[in-house]
Amino acid sequence: MGFVVSDVIELSAVDVAVTPVEKFREFLLTRGMRLTPEREAIVTAVYSTHDHFDAEQWITDLTRQKGASRVSRSTIYRSLNLLVEAGLIRKVARSNDREVYEHDYGYPQHDHLICRKCGTMIEFLNTEVSELLERIAQERGFRMAGHRLEVDGVCAECSRPPKRQHRKLDMI
Ligand SMILES: [Zn+2]
Ligand SMILES: [Zn+2]
Repeated sequence: MGFVVSDVIELSAVDVAVTPVEKFREFLLTRGMRLTPEREAIVTAVYSTHDHFDAEQWITDLTRQKGASRVSRSTIYRSLNLLVEAGLIRKVARSNDREVYEHDYGYPQHDHLICRKCGTMIEFLNTEVSELLERIAQERGFRMAGHRLEVDGVCAECSRPPKRQHRKLDMI
């Protein structure tokens, strides 16, 4: 059976002709590179969830797992860069300096609200945003291929007033 795309991507996933592993294999071929077991394990791990992932944290988790321990951090980093070039993942900006990635294949184009306090990323899909950008591009004779919109601000959770410190006193 092999790798089943629909098992790992959420409901709103778009249909793709080939699995991420196959797509990566094809990309590597164009570079004269092979899909080594290590590289295959990395793609499979990346595509096992849709969550945005912080490269450092993800690598730490991955190297702790059995079997993956022999894959070095630098190999993983190089593979992540190859996955970006292959169009499988992309970097998402974040308020702090950490590198955050997400799937760029088998998942619809979407935008992010990014909390500058906690780093939470809220994904949204809005066709009006796409249409507006298309119109702006068209007016300038620009052929739009896609867009990335990152909205900077503070999430609902972080906007809440801080909890009161002296609850116990209130209860007496
Ligand atoms: Zn927040
Ligand atoms: Zn996202």
